[in-house]
Amino acid sequence: MKIMIMFDPGKVGEAITSNVILEKKVPFNILTAKIDKKGGEMLIEAPDDKAFELIEAFKEKGVRVETRKFVEILPHKCINCGQCFSICPVDAIKYDEDYSITLKQEDCIGCLQCVDSCPLEAIVKAS
Ligand code: SF4
Ligand code: SF4
Repeated sequence: MKIMIMFDPGKVGEAITSNVILEKKVPFNILTAKIDKKGGEMLIEAPDDKAFELIEAFKEKGVRVETRKFVEILPHKCINCGQCFSICPVDAIKYDEDYSITLKQEDCIGCLQCVDSCPLEAIVKAS
């Protein structure tokens, strides 16, 4: 599961991430991180069966946590042209057996390249 951890300015100096790893002994991947003294965000990928435990641990340390859906396909607009399929860096967009485009949310890292690539605005940033 992809989880976004959001750090307020007052939290960036604390060793929150390393303490969560040490306490919970759950390894996770850090997919993206953009943090400076004004605060920031870190996207992690956690094992599904440990995600709730990690979310609670981060929340207890005073940071905001969200599970994320980054983009969605609008089926009524999509013509299955494959432009987004070609550009996705992590193969989160697939062709089904019937040649319709589908999105594997669990693989998406939120780069939004597919949104920019679509000629019909049929794949959009999730609200
Ligand atoms: S680029 Fe747009 S129209 Fe083409 S398959 Fe992707 S979502 Fe559908
Ligand atoms: S946002 Fe990026 S990772 Fe997610 S489906 Fe689009 S191109 Fe792939």
